[in-house]
Amino acid sequence: MNGSKGIIKKLGMAVCVIAIVASSTLWLYSHHKSANPAPITTAATTIAPATTPVTTDNWQSYQIKNGDTLASIFAQYKLPQTSLLAVEKLRSLHLRNLHPGDTLNFLIKQNNLISLKYDLDARRYALITLSNDIAHLSIIDKPITSNLLFKSAVIAYSLQSAAYQAGLTKTMSAELREIFQNHANPALTAHKNDHIEILYREYYIDGKKYKPGDIVAAELIHDNKKQLVLRYQDPVNSDGYYTANGRSIDPLFLPYPVQFKRISSRFTHHRLDPYLHAWRAHLGVDFAADRGTPIRSIGNGRIDFIGRDGGYGNAVKVHYGRYYEALYGHMSRFAKALHNNEYVKKGEIIGYVGSTGWATGPHLHFSFFVDGVPEDWLSLPLPRADGISNHYLSAFEATERELARTLQQDEPKPTKVAQNTNTKNVK
Ligand SMILES: [Zn+2]
Repeated sequence: MNGSKGIIKKLGMAVCVIAIVASSTLWLYSHHKSANPAPITTAATTIAPATTPVTTDNWQSYQIKNGDTLASIFAQYKLPQTSLLAVEKLRSLHLRNLHPGDTLNFLIKQNNLISLKYDLDARRYALITLSNDIAHLSIIDKPITSNLLFKSAVIAYSLQSAAYQAGLTKTMSAELREIFQNHANPALTAHKNDHIEILYREYYIDGKKYKPGDIVAAELIHDNKKQLVLRYQDPVNSDGYYTANGRSIDPLFLPYPVQFKRISSRFTHHRLDPYLHAWRAHLGVDFAADRGTPIRSIGNGRIDFIGRDGGYGNAVKVHYGRYYEALYGHMSRFAKALHNNEYVKKGEIIGYVGSTGWATGPHLHFSFFVDGVPEDWLSLPLPRADGISNHYLSAFEATERELARTLQQDEPKPTKVAQNTNTKNVK
């Protein structure tokens, strides 16, 4: 068959058109700041319609009815028996049964069946092509189209509710809150009456929304200071959000390795050890939790040690990059299939709370080392994840310039009069 993958091009990066429409209501609002309560004002967005590839071929659609068989349908189109047999053979081998309501698409030339296609699910369709009465089947991913959209809002109550009322989905609104309520980056904290501008991408298959959108860039304007955050994915690492200078906004570590009930012992160089009944330094934090509570790796790292470690009982040591190391002690058991030198992910379960070693009750002993020196985890500022590596910095900067320009273009201009807008005021 002809390489249909080539015909159906991935349109994921389809050219996107953003109509810039000024929002007069936003302008009104910004000039009547005394208005109370502050309304959420949404700048309008216009979606360029997701285009389907224009084809000169004349496909005919048939919706399967109750009582239809492939034979009866082929007979209606006066298609030769040989085509039917070829298709039947393929279909019974590879494909699900068709049901009433499903649509078959035929490409017929001079009473000969050239191709037949039908949806397998929302993501894929089957394409059967015939040549010399031999049918070939390909299963093809439907092209995903996307549009870049713009929204802006003034935060009346919370960033999340402003984003939601501006028209972002619940998921995206929550994602936005995560971005701007990030204890690793106090500068990004959103305040009441801040202005937020959001560029996001929506995805479509067959013109229908197909998955939750992605926030591509967001700019928070607080006291006339702009904080730009943008999403970037380099060819090697998973994507993340970065500030304009290419620093990651994600904290490198989870705040806590375990869901604990209370902190039963803090970091100190001097304490009465409840087990040894002697004055000892406690160079870690004890998190009291029920036996069996999962213990998670605070970051992406490599296991240095897993096994029995004296007073720490069942313990795991994990190295996080060049500078950091953590020790997790008193585990009842380890997570399955963990070995020395193995990589663990941030949030991955490495073991379960117990009281092995010198422990009077179930808790996690957690020590954190910076350059080999134990530090108090609870008072340590959380380091951020790595920024964009030098290798991809210029590509990142190009993306950033483009997004910053788009955001700027989309800023509502008070001089323009809104036309054809879907601007709405939400109380
Ligand atoms: Zn301890």
